[in-house]
Amino acid sequence: MKSIQMVDLVSQYDRFKEEIKTEIDKVLDSASFINGPSVKEFQKGLENYLNVKHVIPCANGTDALQVIMMAYDFPKGSEVIVPSFTYVATVEVIALLGLIPVFVEVYPDTFNIDLDDVRSKITDKTVAIAPVHLYGQCAHMEPIMKIANEFGLKVFEDTAQAIGAEYTFSNGKKAKAGTIGHAGATSFFPSKNLGAYGDGGAIMTNDDDLAKKLRMIVNHGQSERYYHDSIGVNSRLDSIQAAILKVKLKYLDHYNQARQLVAKRYNEAFASTDEIIAPMTANYTNHVYHQYTVKLKDESKRDALNKYLATFEIPSMIYYPVPNHLQKAYSYYGYTNGDMPNTEDLCSRVISFPIHTEMEAAQQNLIIEKVLEFCSK
Ligand SMILES: *Cc1c(COP(=O)(O)O)cnc(C)c1O
Repeated sequence: MKSIQMVDLVSQYDRFKEEIKTEIDKVLDSASFINGPSVKEFQKGLENYLNVKHVIPCANGTDALQVIMMAYDFPKGSEVIVPSFTYVATVEVIALLGLIPVFVEVYPDTFNIDLDDVRSKITDKTVAIAPVHLYGQCAHMEPIMKIANEFGLKVFEDTAQAIGAEYTFSNGKKAKAGTIGHAGATSFFPSKNLGAYGDGGAIMTNDDDLAKKLRMIVNHGQSERYYHDSIGVNSRLDSIQAAILKVKLKYLDHYNQARQLVAKRYNEAFASTDEIIAPMTANYTNHVYHQYTVKLKDESKRDALNKYLATFEIPSMIYYPVPNHLQKAYSYYGYTNGDMPNTEDLCSRVISFPIHTEMEAAQQNLIIEKVLEFCSK
């Protein structure tokens, strides 16, 4: 049996090695490392796949979020509503631009943004909501858009963990994560569901004017060469990463299905114990399981479970141990322990087990066996 990893990128590469190498070689042979044809090809491919008018490739997912917020040029001190239970990047770009992150709770079962809390935190300074499709299932976008329309707010989806996930509207219509709000941001960090072999990211939008602005901002605010209409950044997806992503995009649905199968087996196995609360998928979304994250009934056992598994060389991770409203970097905003009980509780209760596209039955059997063994002790 191969050693177990949270994500097995080596085995995944082995399966598509020749195809990927051929595409990388094309870029090397042409030496068009920046803005080569592969970038445009991947952009078109992703627009097609997501059924969205515009994809703007950029250097990483954090930049994607930042560039979206730059495009709106909100007055300093404007408030952006964001879940505290997310990766720091969603919060960081808000603060960096002189806007105020206003933290809200997530639902304890889906880990996604709590709509009542969103409503209760809207003030006359609120300009946007930034829902995060955490771990791979969509936040409840239809009511989020309804609240946004009611208060004239923009919606920026952080879909770094949910590329390929699909949201179902109440009328049965479906849309891919990241294409429902005013703009969406995703990441091609290697371990993400659609991962490059380095950094990469993209912005999605159906708004033509916004797309134009975004394309300018990622390129130094340039409208024509050496004519700079706005302050921009340098944020590019390089040609080699785009060439790799172009190949991997073809397999994204297959990758997500492989993750769903692993999750299904975990769910079935963990149904036999009360100690583990398996992840729940809401009826308005599917789940592409960027992470397989459970809650422990007894939070005091979490570190012991993590250590127990490690003795069998089974990795497990805590995403995330500290809520953003309690991070040192954001103490300036004055939140304290107890402000967000659901989020704080999740941070002490969640644990994520290995999930990836190359999981072998024997590997998963061992993980399940050792988790259940621990639970029965
Ligand atoms: C990975 C991730 C990001 C940032 O992506 P990078 O490409 O690493 O900058 C943003 N938000 C969430 C929720 C993420 O998981």
